[in-house]
Amino acid sequence: MKQTKKTLNLVHLYPEQMNIYGDWGNVLTLVRRAQWHGYDVRVVPFHPGDHLPLDTDLVVGGGGQDSGQSVIQDDLLRIGSDLHKLADKKVPMLMICGLYQLFGHFFQTKDGTRINGISMFDIETYGGDHRMIGNVVSQTEFGEIIGYENHSGMTVLGENQKPFGQVVSGDGNNGKDRTEGAITKRVFGSYLHGSLLPKNPAFADALLQYAALHRYGSFEPEIIDDHFATEARRIARQRPR
Ligand code: GLN
Repeated sequence: MKQTKKTLNLVHLYPEQMNIYGDWGNVLTLVRRAQWHGYDVRVVPFHPGDHLPLDTDLVVGGGGQDSGQSVIQDDLLRIGSDLHKLADKKVPMLMICGLYQLFGHFFQTKDGTRINGISMFDIETYGGDHRMIGNVVSQTEFGEIIGYENHSGMTVLGENQKPFGQVVSGDGNNGKDRTEGAITKRVFGSYLHGSLLPKNPAFADALLQYAALHRYGSFEPEIIDDHFATEARRIARQRPR
Protein backbone atom coordinates (compact mmCIF):
# COMPACT_ATOMS: atom_id res chain seq x y z
CA MET A 1 0.00 0.00 0.00
CA LYS A 2 1.15 3.50 -0.72
CA GLN A 3 1.84 5.78 2.28
CA THR A 4 0.33 9.08 1.14
CA LYS A 5 -2.70 9.41 -1.08
CA LYS A 6 -2.21 11.44 -4.21
CA THR A 7 -5.21 13.44 -5.40
CA LEU A 8 -6.50 14.02 -8.93
CA ASN A 9 -8.90 16.87 -9.75
CA LEU A 10 -11.81 15.83 -11.98
CA VAL A 11 -14.24 18.35 -13.49
CA HIS A 12 -17.66 16.95 -14.43
CA LEU A 13 -19.15 19.27 -17.06
CA TYR A 14 -22.84 20.21 -16.77
CA PRO A 15 -24.08 17.20 -14.73
CA GLU A 16 -27.64 18.57 -14.67
CA GLN A 17 -28.09 19.24 -18.39
CA MET A 18 -25.72 16.70 -19.96
CA ASN A 19 -26.14 13.36 -18.24
CA ILE A 20 -28.30 10.71 -19.90
CA TYR A 21 -28.24 6.93 -20.30
CA GLY A 22 -26.14 6.64 -17.15
CA ASP A 23 -23.20 8.75 -18.33
CA TRP A 24 -22.60 9.76 -14.70
CA GLY A 25 -21.31 6.19 -14.30
CA ASN A 26 -18.14 7.28 -16.09
CA VAL A 27 -17.34 9.64 -13.22
CA LEU A 28 -18.13 6.95 -10.64
CA THR A 29 -15.88 4.48 -12.44
CA LEU A 30 -12.96 6.90 -12.61
CA VAL A 31 -13.31 7.73 -8.90
CA ARG A 32 -13.53 4.11 -7.82
CA ARG A 33 -10.71 2.81 -10.05
CA ALA A 34 -8.50 5.71 -8.96
CA GLN A 35 -9.13 4.69 -5.33
CA TRP A 36 -8.24 1.08 -6.14
CA HIS A 37 -5.00 2.39 -7.65
CA GLY A 38 -4.30 4.34 -4.45
CA TYR A 39 -5.36 7.81 -5.62
CA ASP A 40 -8.11 10.11 -4.37
CA VAL A 41 -10.28 12.05 -6.80
CA ARG A 42 -11.77 15.45 -6.04
CA VAL A 43 -14.89 15.72 -8.20
CA VAL A 44 -15.92 19.27 -9.13
CA PRO A 45 -19.43 19.45 -10.66
CA PHE A 46 -19.27 22.32 -13.17
CA HIS A 47 -22.49 24.30 -13.72
CA PRO A 48 -23.23 27.18 -16.14
CA GLY A 49 -21.56 30.36 -14.82
CA ASP A 50 -18.92 28.51 -12.77
CA HIS A 51 -15.20 29.23 -12.93
CA LEU A 52 -13.24 26.40 -14.61
CA PRO A 53 -10.42 25.44 -12.23
CA LEU A 54 -7.09 25.55 -14.04
CA ASP A 55 -5.56 22.88 -11.78
CA THR A 56 -7.87 20.32 -13.43
CA ASP A 57 -6.37 16.91 -14.28
CA LEU A 58 -9.36 15.26 -15.98
CA VAL A 59 -12.56 16.56 -17.60
CA VAL A 60 -15.65 14.38 -18.19
CA GLY A 61 -18.93 15.23 -19.89
CA GLY A 62 -22.01 13.31 -21.00
CA GLY A 63 -24.80 13.23 -23.49
CA GLY A 64 -27.98 15.26 -23.48
CA GLN A 65 -31.13 16.13 -25.35
CA ASP A 66 -30.99 18.80 -28.05
CA SER A 67 -32.69 21.10 -25.49
CA GLY A 68 -29.93 20.49 -22.92
CA GLN A 69 -27.32 21.24 -25.58
CA SER A 70 -29.03 24.57 -26.34
CA VAL A 71 -29.05 25.51 -22.64
CA ILE A 72 -25.31 25.00 -22.14
CA GLN A 73 -24.13 26.25 -25.57
CA ASP A 74 -23.28 29.83 -24.50
CA ASP A 75 -21.58 28.71 -21.33
CA LEU A 76 -19.48 26.10 -23.15
CA LEU A 77 -18.36 28.74 -25.65
CA ARG A 78 -17.45 30.99 -22.67
CA ILE A 79 -15.03 28.36 -21.27
CA GLY A 80 -13.89 27.07 -24.67
CA SER A 81 -10.49 28.78 -24.66
CA ASP A 82 -9.74 27.49 -21.13
CA LEU A 83 -10.62 23.94 -22.25
CA HIS A 84 -8.26 24.36 -25.22
CA LYS A 85 -5.50 25.50 -22.82
CA LEU A 86 -6.03 22.40 -20.66
CA ALA A 87 -5.97 20.17 -23.76
CA ASP A 88 -2.69 21.82 -24.83
CA LYS A 89 -1.29 20.82 -21.43
CA LYS A 90 -2.24 17.18 -22.20
CA VAL A 91 -5.12 17.08 -19.73
CA PRO A 92 -7.29 14.08 -20.67
CA MET A 93 -10.98 14.59 -21.38
CA LEU A 94 -13.84 12.23 -22.23
CA MET A 95 -16.92 13.68 -23.92
CA ILE A 96 -19.90 11.48 -24.72
CA CYS A 97 -22.55 12.03 -27.40
CA GLY A 98 -24.13 15.48 -26.86
CA LEU A 99 -20.95 17.04 -25.48
CA TYR A 100 -18.84 15.16 -28.04
CA GLN A 101 -20.91 16.91 -30.72
CA LEU A 102 -20.37 20.32 -29.05
CA PHE A 103 -16.61 19.71 -28.81
CA GLY A 104 -16.82 19.92 -32.60
CA HIS A 105 -17.71 22.94 -34.75
CA PHE A 106 -21.49 22.64 -34.38
CA PHE A 107 -24.53 20.41 -34.08
CA GLN A 108 -27.25 21.36 -36.55
CA THR A 109 -30.61 20.07 -35.33
CA LYS A 110 -33.18 18.52 -37.64
CA ASP A 111 -35.08 21.83 -37.85
CA GLY A 112 -31.91 23.62 -39.02
CA THR A 113 -30.95 25.33 -35.73
CA ARG A 114 -27.20 25.46 -35.22
CA ILE A 115 -25.81 24.85 -31.75
CA ASN A 116 -22.22 26.03 -31.87
CA GLY A 117 -19.35 24.13 -30.33
CA ILE A 118 -15.76 24.83 -29.29
CA SER A 119 -13.98 23.20 -32.27
CA MET A 120 -11.75 20.98 -30.15
CA PHE A 121 -12.43 18.37 -32.81
CA ASP A 122 -12.62 19.02 -36.55
CA ILE A 123 -16.12 17.57 -36.81
CA GLU A 124 -19.58 18.73 -37.88
CA THR A 125 -22.82 17.06 -36.81
CA TYR A 126 -26.18 17.12 -38.57
CA GLY A 127 -29.40 15.89 -36.95
CA GLY A 128 -31.38 13.50 -39.14
CA ASP A 129 -34.63 11.51 -39.19
CA HIS A 130 -32.95 8.22 -38.49
CA ARG A 131 -31.85 7.35 -34.95
CA MET A 132 -28.78 5.19 -34.62
CA ILE A 133 -29.51 2.91 -31.68
CA GLY A 134 -27.92 -0.24 -30.39
CA ASN A 135 -24.85 -2.05 -29.13
CA VAL A 136 -21.51 -1.06 -30.60
CA VAL A 137 -18.09 -2.67 -30.74
CA SER A 138 -15.25 -0.43 -31.87
CA GLN A 139 -11.57 -1.24 -32.37
CA THR A 140 -9.26 1.35 -30.77
CA GLU A 141 -5.68 1.73 -29.57
CA PHE A 142 -7.02 0.64 -26.13
CA GLY A 143 -8.41 -2.60 -27.56
CA GLU A 144 -12.07 -3.24 -28.22
CA ILE A 145 -14.37 -0.59 -26.81
CA ILE A 146 -17.88 -1.82 -26.07
CA GLY A 147 -20.87 0.47 -25.56
CA TYR A 148 -24.34 1.53 -26.59
CA GLU A 149 -25.27 4.35 -28.99
CA ASN A 150 -28.49 6.36 -29.25
CA HIS A 151 -28.28 9.49 -31.41
CA SER A 152 -29.82 11.09 -34.47
CA GLY A 153 -26.81 13.34 -35.06
CA MET A 154 -24.58 12.24 -37.95
CA THR A 155 -21.01 13.32 -37.37
CA VAL A 156 -18.61 13.96 -40.25
CA LEU A 157 -14.88 14.04 -39.52
CA GLY A 158 -12.63 16.64 -41.15
CA GLU A 159 -9.94 15.30 -43.45
CA ASN A 160 -7.21 15.13 -40.78
CA GLN A 161 -9.40 14.36 -37.79
CA LYS A 162 -8.39 11.09 -36.15
CA PRO A 163 -11.34 8.89 -35.12
CA PHE A 164 -11.40 7.23 -31.70
CA GLY A 165 -12.04 3.83 -33.27
CA GLN A 166 -13.16 1.78 -36.23
CA VAL A 167 -16.63 0.31 -35.91
CA VAL A 168 -16.73 -3.50 -35.81
CA SER A 169 -20.49 -3.56 -35.27
CA GLY A 170 -22.88 -0.61 -35.01
CA ASP A 171 -23.20 2.79 -36.69
CA GLY A 172 -20.66 5.01 -34.91
CA ASN A 173 -20.21 8.58 -36.15
CA ASN A 174 -22.55 8.42 -39.13
CA GLY A 175 -23.39 4.84 -40.12
CA LYS A 176 -21.36 5.20 -43.31
CA ASP A 177 -17.60 5.54 -42.88
CA ARG A 178 -17.22 3.00 -40.03
CA THR A 179 -15.54 5.52 -37.73
CA GLU A 180 -16.52 6.06 -34.09
CA GLY A 181 -15.70 9.15 -32.06
CA ALA A 182 -12.64 11.38 -32.34
CA ILE A 183 -9.27 11.97 -30.64
CA THR A 184 -7.33 15.22 -30.48
CA LYS A 185 -4.34 15.37 -28.12
CA ARG A 186 -5.69 13.50 -25.07
CA VAL A 187 -9.27 14.59 -25.65
CA PHE A 188 -11.63 11.73 -26.54
CA GLY A 189 -15.11 12.06 -28.00
CA SER A 190 -17.43 9.09 -28.36
CA TYR A 191 -21.07 8.27 -29.00
CA LEU A 192 -20.96 5.36 -26.59
CA HIS A 193 -23.03 5.25 -23.44
CA GLY A 194 -23.49 2.20 -21.29
CA SER A 195 -22.06 3.77 -19.14
CA LEU A 196 -18.94 3.43 -21.24
CA LEU A 197 -16.16 3.12 -18.66
CA PRO A 198 -17.38 0.31 -16.35
CA LYS A 199 -17.19 -2.10 -19.30
CA ASN A 200 -13.94 -0.63 -20.65
CA PRO A 201 -11.49 -0.68 -17.74
CA ALA A 202 -8.34 -0.48 -19.90
CA PHE A 203 -9.56 2.79 -21.37
CA ALA A 204 -10.64 4.09 -17.93
CA ASP A 205 -7.14 3.36 -16.60
CA ALA A 206 -5.55 5.11 -19.61
CA LEU A 207 -7.52 8.27 -18.71
CA LEU A 208 -6.37 7.96 -15.09
CA GLN A 209 -2.80 7.42 -16.25
CA TYR A 210 -2.91 10.60 -18.35
CA ALA A 211 -4.44 12.50 -15.41
CA ALA A 212 -1.73 11.25 -13.03
CA LEU A 213 0.98 12.09 -15.57
CA HIS A 214 -0.42 15.60 -15.78
CA ARG A 215 -0.44 16.06 -11.98
CA TYR A 216 2.56 13.99 -10.81
CA GLY A 217 4.58 13.07 -13.89
CA SER A 218 4.08 9.35 -13.20
CA PHE A 219 1.36 6.76 -12.64
CA GLU A 220 1.76 3.91 -10.19
CA PRO A 221 -1.15 1.52 -10.74
CA GLU A 222 -2.19 -1.42 -8.58
CA ILE A 223 -3.38 -4.69 -10.10
CA ILE A 224 -7.18 -4.70 -10.13
CA ASP A 225 -9.37 -7.79 -10.31
CA ASP A 226 -11.48 -7.01 -13.38
CA HIS A 227 -13.33 -10.30 -13.73
CA PHE A 228 -16.77 -8.68 -13.43
CA ALA A 229 -15.89 -6.20 -16.18
CA THR A 230 -14.44 -8.99 -18.31
CA GLU A 231 -17.65 -10.98 -17.92
CA ALA A 232 -19.80 -7.91 -18.72
CA ARG A 233 -17.73 -7.34 -21.87
CA ARG A 234 -18.12 -10.94 -22.94
CA ILE A 235 -21.89 -10.82 -22.57
CA ALA A 236 -22.29 -7.33 -24.09
CA ARG A 237 -20.22 -8.32 -27.09
CA GLN A 238 -22.68 -11.11 -27.92
CA ARG A 239 -25.81 -9.02 -27.58
CA PRO A 240 -27.83 -8.38 -30.67
CA ARG A 241 -27.84 -4.95 -32.16
N1 GLN B 1 -29.25 15.22 -29.30
C1 GLN B 1 -28.13 14.56 -29.85
C2 GLN B 1 -28.49 13.51 -30.90
O1 GLN B 1 -29.52 12.86 -30.84
C3 GLN B 1 -27.34 13.95 -28.72
C4 GLN B 1 -28.01 12.76 -28.12
C5 GLN B 1 -27.28 12.20 -26.95
O2 GLN B 1 -26.45 12.88 -26.32
N2 GLN B 1 -27.56 10.96 -26.62
O3 GLN B 1 -27.69 13.31 -31.80
